[in-house]
This record gives sequence, C-alpha cells and structure tokens, in this order.
Amino acid sequence: MPDNPQATCGSCEYFGDGIAQQQLVEIRVNPESAPEAFSPCAAPRNAEIHLSVGPRAGCDAWKPAA
Ligand code: SF4
Repeated sequence: MPDNPQATCGSCEYFGDGIAQQQLVEIRVNPESAPEAFSPCAAPRNAEIHLSVGPRAGCDAWKPAA
C-alpha cells in the first residue's frame, strides 16, 4: 500500500471502468461510499494480469484522478 492514506483505488486515475459516472464521483469523494464497487485496474502493469480492485485497495502505481 502507498504511504499516502488517501492514495486508494477509489481516487485513482486507473479506477472506474464499468462504474456509472455519478457513482464514480461519489467514490472519489468518499471511497467508503461503495466498497462493493469493483473495477478493473487500467494501469498497464495491472491490466495485463486483469486485476480487479475495490475503492479501498491501493498500490504504488496510484495516480490522482483528473
Ligand atoms: S491498483 Fe493501483 S493503479 Fe490500479 S486503481 Fe488501484 S491504486 Fe490505481
């Protein structure tokens, strides 16, 4: 997990495929709002192994959502 506690998948640029835009906005504000909302991670090193993640997960490839 990254050192920054805010650096969770829910606020990451690579999270959100398959999740409705409105729900994604809510998750970015509060990753606890939808812990069941899993998404494939789009980071190149994770996409190749088809990693699926929840909003409270995280990794060192975290990049803040635009
Ligand atoms: S696994 Fe890493 S790169 Fe993928 S969405 Fe989560 S923090 Fe972002």
